Amino acid sequence: MSNLKRGWMYERLDGRGGILSSFITGVNNFIQYACSQKNRMSGDNIKCPCKKCHNLKYMDVEMVKYHLFQYGFVENYFVWKYQGEEDVIDEMYYVNDLHGGTQPELGYDNPYRQMVLDVAGPNFDQGLSR
Ligand SMILES: [Zn+2]
Repeated sequence: MSNLKRGWMYERLDGRGGILSSFITGVNNFIQYACSQKNRMSGDNIKCPCKKCHNLKYMDVEMVKYHLFQYGFVENYFVWKYQGEEDVIDEMYYVNDLHGGTQPELGYDNPYRQMVLDVAGPNFDQGLSR
């Protein structure tokens, strides 16, 4: 379930224009990891995994943090291979892809679902399989 552990990567915004503290903590851990992999670095710079850079550019860590807060991570970047992590094939990734598990920004905090639950009460969900 290693990709669940990294669910924070794609849960960046709190819906009120702020950034979730779990995302900030996660990014700090990411930076720490990246900076421990000296052979993947270029001087003091690491590859930026944000949506704009796609791990193509080396940047200093403050800039990488800024990019991640601003743009978020590039899609499906659960294994930090450009920062030195082993690219292990994990079936879970594929299973989750099939169920659209890689788009948490769209699925969470669905106001319609919340409304239905409010009207129907907590038991409404019991007959559904998911
Ligand atoms: Zn970037």
